[in-house]
Amino acid sequence: LTAEKAERVDIAAMNAGALDYLVKGEISARMIERSLRYALKLGETLEALRRLATRDQLTGLLNRREFERILVEEEERVRRFKHSLGLVMVDIDHFKLVNDTHGHMTGDVVLREVARRVAEVVRTVDRAMRYGGEELALTLEQTDRSGALGLAGRVCRAVEREPILVSDTLALNITVSAGAAAMPQDADSGPKLLNAADKALYAAKARGRNRAVGYNEI
Ligand code: GH3
Ligand code: MG
Ligand code: MG
Repeated sequence: LTAEKAERVDIAAMNAGALDYLVKGEISARMIERSLRYALKLGETLEALRRLATRDQLTGLLNRREFERILVEEEERVRRFKHSLGLVMVDIDHFKLVNDTHGHMTGDVVLREVARRVAEVVRTVDRAMRYGGEELALTLEQTDRSGALGLAGRVCRAVEREPILVSDTLALNITVSAGAAAMPQDADSGPKLLNAADKALYAAKARGRNRAVGYNEI
């Protein structure tokens, strides 16, 4: 809201992020009400678009594109502030069997519940994403490999603890395997960190599943 009528002020205000530009003496209550209503509506629309662009539809976790964007930022932070960043890769054990035995709809219910349990284990500063089909990944702020491995173990136990109730008549015992790595201990870039955690996950599968393995243990 300004007394300034010059057009350049209008344009400068918009460029600075203003949604609308009202000139004192030219406004009415109705104009203000409408301007606020439009701003609220635009805010809601932007939020809905942001969610669509950054979240996975089935699980509500971050999607891969958003996660990769975050990983680039985190990599920079690790370099600049000498922090460490933990990364945990999680994969549901024998998930194909769930689909083959009970159908894909049941598979989707299981996947959604596993995602919920996994995300519950991490702190709000940490991020959880759906990396691929039934693979999830977590970034852990200021966490080294042993911290990441500890959390990976907690993730396995959180999924294993109680059967997943698919319906009144069907409860499934589901487990996950997890691999843990950290930057800069195990990798000097985001993609290499993902790769290290993935190798550790592969080792957890090979050693019998329902367990967490650190990159140093493979
Ligand atoms: P492992 O213990 O070695 O991980 O065995 P697995 O059967 O989980 O391994 P694999 O990676 O071969 O199978 C993953 C399966 O996940 C295959 C695919 O049908 C299923 N899947 C991937 N995305 C989805 C999804 O969105 N919904 C459902 N229902 N199934 C999915
Ligand atoms: Mg699997
Ligand atoms: Mg898989």
